[in-house]
Amino acid sequence: MSSPSTTYSGDITLNGDEQPPVKLVDPENVHVKSGAVDGDLKVLNAEYVYTNTPAGGTAEIGDIETEISGTIEDGYLESGGVSGDVVVVDAEDVFIEHEAVDGDLQIIGDEQRFHDESDTEPHPRNQYDESITGWDREVSVTEPDTGVSVTGGRNSVRIENTEAEFELYLTGWNNDIRVDGHGSIRLHLVGSNNTVEVSAYTDVTVATEPGHDNTVSVDDFPVEDLIKTSQSAAYREAFMGRKKITYQVPAMDEDYCPGCGATADAVIERHQEDAFFLFGYPIYQFEAGSGSYECEECSAHAHPDVRLSESERKDLFK
Ligand SMILES: [Zn+2]
Repeated sequence: MSSPSTTYSGDITLNGDEQPPVKLVDPENVHVKSGAVDGDLKVLNAEYVYTNTPAGGTAEIGDIETEISGTIEDGYLESGGVSGDVVVVDAEDVFIEHEAVDGDLQIIGDEQRFHDESDTEPHPRNQYDESITGWDREVSVTEPDTGVSVTGGRNSVRIENTEAEFELYLTGWNNDIRVDGHGSIRLHLVGSNNTVEVSAYTDVTVATEPGHDNTVSVDDFPVEDLIKTSQSAAYREAFMGRKKITYQVPAMDEDYCPGCGATADAVIERHQEDAFFLFGYPIYQFEAGSGSYECEECSAHAHPDVRLSESERKDLFK
């Protein structure tokens, strides 16, 4: 019995129209989204497999009804994309999100496999604010509430957050994500060579990361945000006569805080002056002192949400 075979070139998307079982032959990258395969998934002879769904079952695949072969670049299996079994043969990279396969996932003959699982359930994909799928796309997302997913390769996504706590689900390779604003992210990273860069006021937790060469970085804390009164502002304010003033200056050469001992991006030194001022200039100093230090960890002036503990910081760069 011969199965109907179709020759394709470029990218293919399975979104429910193909009669299962489906066989996908020799694609470059395959992205299997959460909830994509209703039956079993068998991955044969792939080079790299990155998966948030545990493998180990035995996939029972019946006679193939749809065979997709040709010059296939990327294959995308959407949520609800296949109402039965799937076989993927000779793929380069296969990226599998959590709960992507309702039946068994069996992986045979892969060169290298990366597996991770989250201890907390990610949100259902249909609750996400934005789902970006494809190759080389440039997208801006404003104020997500629940989640943003990026699936594919070489995408560049900029997210303007306010103070929300949202999920970022990144599947594929070489994607660059920038997150600004205040708030927090639960990050799922399935793949390789992805970059996630966030503002100093964003709190990041890496929930899953099956893969390699991914980087997550947090901007240095802006030292000016710790300075309540600068020297020039204090002098201006003092203006005329004998005044006791305090102000803060950046302690540029410190990479840990002499005040609390934490490793710090930003350290300020507190100064006091008791001086006689003439038009905002100290013409005679009765007393001057310094030496009290503060950083983004211990300053009462820092945004309360930004205080990542040292161990949280280190976790990001494992
Ligand atoms: Zn400190």
